Amino acid sequence: MIQQTPVMRICISCRKTYDRKDLIKITKDHKKGIMLKKGMGRSAYICKSKNCYSDSKIKKKLQKALKTFLEPEFIEIFEQEITSYNDNPNKGI
Ligand SMILES: [Zn+2]
Repeated sequence: MIQQTPVMRICISCRKTYDRKDLIKITKDHKKGIMLKKGMGRSAYICKSKNCYSDSKIKKKLQKALKTFLEPEFIEIFEQEITSYNDNPNKGI
């Protein structure tokens, strides 16, 4: 049996370390631009704590982490996605 070591990542807002699967990944894909939970390139992670994703500075922190400008359209999609996580804690299982 193979023991899987969880991949730990830091939330860009609270700076706490979490198992990667408990975080929302935002990636600046080399070809496709900003993507949620997929893509290859520079990535930032945010935990599902309301304090973090509803932080008024989260957009700035994301832009800094990804070194890019985030369109308001993306922020909208991102907020919808992250809110739906809390509505459905068992989603995807
Ligand atoms: Zn956090």
